[in-house]
Amino acid sequence: MLTEIRKINDESVALAKSILLSGGLVAIPTETVYGLAAVGTNPEAVKKIFEVKGRPTDNPLIAHVHENYDIEKLVEIERDYVYELKKRFTPGPLTMVMKSRGVVCRDAVCGGDTLAVRIPSHEGCRKLLRAVDVPLVAPSANISKHTSPVRAEHVYNDLNGKIPLILDGGKCRGGIESTVIDATGEFPRILRAGLITKEMIESVAGKCEIAEHRAGDKVKSPGVKYSHYRPKCDTALFSEDETDKALSLYKEKIAEGKTPYIMCADGVAEKFKGLNLLPLGNTETEIAASLYDKLLEGEKKADIIIAVAMPDEKGINLGIMNRLNKSCKRL
Ligand code: AMP
Ligand code: MG
Repeated sequence: MLTEIRKINDESVALAKSILLSGGLVAIPTETVYGLAAVGTNPEAVKKIFEVKGRPTDNPLIAHVHENYDIEKLVEIERDYVYELKKRFTPGPLTMVMKSRGVVCRDAVCGGDTLAVRIPSHEGCRKLLRAVDVPLVAPSANISKHTSPVRAEHVYNDLNGKIPLILDGGKCRGGIESTVIDATGEFPRILRAGLITKEMIESVAGKCEIAEHRAGDKVKSPGVKYSHYRPKCDTALFSEDETDKALSLYKEKIAEGKTPYIMCADGVAEKFKGLNLLPLGNTETEIAASLYDKLLEGEKKADIIIAVAMPDEKGINLGIMNRLNKSCKRL
């Protein structure tokens, strides 16, 4: 199959719509990462997503709709905080898991009775969602377990020959996947951390907890149990008070004739002057936005990416560390 990359505009949106409505897959930009979309009410189309990605069949998909779509057609809203969170944080990178009405097919939710719903803010993505006016289920547009794509070319590198069309909406501004919350309980619980932080949710809902996953627990959000986001090269992860260890590993690799790269915030990069660097920026927002981009740049030129990061469990850093802990090996 020939895979076309087209800039997102009226013409390419019309083409994407016809592919999707006839049961095909299209890769689409969002403000978080690129998604691999199918019409969520078409079981054959949904099955293709799992096949193309090699995604475990117990990991449910998120349904994406435009801002004027009545989400109560898809889910039962059991909690008032849902209306508040929707008003405050959507369109945007917040996904809410609620009781499904069964409109989105069973294969998409892996037979479960809940559905995760998201209203993206990316302008091109909204244009497509308005044009199709049906829920599009869309996991990240990468081969399962690989780093999530944040540019059209990243999608092409993983899915060339497997899908007909990639809509190019530029580099994703958010850079990590949406915050996923369980919105069925008395207060919201974060199943996957992201750019909408615990603190932001608390400011609207009063209370918000991070779901803890202990070994042996029945995992409520199946996706969190998989190792994820791995670049194709070797990796190592250190915290910011272990820069000496990062430096000795770097030197060891050089002595072995390998090409190491150090990935860290710009401030920390001062300590590694003159070495091969993948600088992530300064603020949490900048770091989230460049994390996958740098991992994917790194896998092309490095034998090993040595990541140095702050294991701070607050704000956006919680989401950043969640991705780093899964994508890079802690030594
Ligand atoms: P991805 O689309 O690959 O970024 O992953 C979607 C994330 O949302 C995964 O962590 C899923 O486990 C989670 N998710 C999707 N649907 C549900 C659901 N119905 N209940 C709980 N978690 C969900
Ligand atoms: Mg994914």
